[in-house]
Amino acid sequence: MTKFNLNTLVRDNVKAMKPYSSARDEYVSDGSEMVFLDANENPFENGLNRYPDPQQRSLKAVIAKQKGINESHILLGNGSDEVLDLLFRAFCQPQKDNVITLPPTYGMYTVLANLNEIEERKVILKPDFQPDVEAILKVVDANSKLLFICSPNNPTANLIAIEKIKQLLEAFQGIVVIDEAYIDFANQSTWVEELSNYPNLIVTQTLSKAYGLAGIRLGLCFASAEIIAILNKIKPPYNVNELTQKAAMERLLDKKGVDEEIKGIIEERKTLIKALKNIDFIKEIYPTEANFVLAKVDDATKRYNELLAKGIVIRNRTTQALCENTLRFTVGTPEENKVLVEVLELL
Ligand SMILES: *Cc1c(COP(=O)(O)O)cnc(C)c1O
Repeated sequence: MTKFNLNTLVRDNVKAMKPYSSARDEYVSDGSEMVFLDANENPFENGLNRYPDPQQRSLKAVIAKQKGINESHILLGNGSDEVLDLLFRAFCQPQKDNVITLPPTYGMYTVLANLNEIEERKVILKPDFQPDVEAILKVVDANSKLLFICSPNNPTANLIAIEKIKQLLEAFQGIVVIDEAYIDFANQSTWVEELSNYPNLIVTQTLSKAYGLAGIRLGLCFASAEIIAILNKIKPPYNVNELTQKAAMERLLDKKGVDEEIKGIIEERKTLIKALKNIDFIKEIYPTEANFVLAKVDDATKRYNELLAKGIVIRNRTTQALCENTLRFTVGTPEENKVLVEVLELL
């Protein structure tokens, strides 16, 4: 592999631009009592009258400690969807560059590629839902900037094999983005631990799934300090609001509570799979390392509509590559799953 060169991947306009310098960037309090008359805020205290910390320092300190990395390797966003959008805007020149995706996978990569006028080169997973490394490397060219690997993958629920990812990290000259939205449900540790070995690795995570905070919108991005610096330069100054920073902090500090919920969901996943196996129109249940189950049925659209009529909303994945007649069930509470199974038994 020729040496990875971040500088050749960053868009010229991003390299040339100066970031917006917000009031809270220009003066950072050292903790002493100051009179803040710099940001045109309303001075009357209500807990939210001040702009939030644009660098989310307290929150990053907690995350850095829990993940065992330095704060300079962390960027936070308004959901991981904002983080993914920042990656397009930092590295992909509209109408010129391309990204590689591996369907069936998370739909936002396509949406963001379309929004940013970036060609998406789709290389469908093999029937075992693992990447076809040879085929991927064949479609890559000098303008291939990002390769998206979702692991555990949505909607197929499996982990992408470590060896395949390593091959891609070593052979691909662009940036490999590993989307770990579901990693907390998986029986494998995070790729964050490999950051120091791969300068072209970006890992994204979220508080939307395992941490039970989809409503606050907090996405996490882990990468080299060089990559994080570029993303910091282009992110909206106050992209993570004060309410989000507070709620995230509280939840992160309750690690025990989060771990117990994750354990409960994994336990319930087992129970649900066992029950689904007894439904005769369910033909196959795919192995899962996430908080959902993908199953092949006789007629996905028919079953989806039948469940909807009974007040149960699942996801019909039948139009996705390799996913003909599949349904995706999120693992709910024991009560919700019981209702689901009871309804399925009567169809
Ligand atoms: C749900 C999901 C996300 C979530 O992103 P947020 O914007 O942080 O809520 C990201 N990636 C994948 C693969 C997902 O399924």
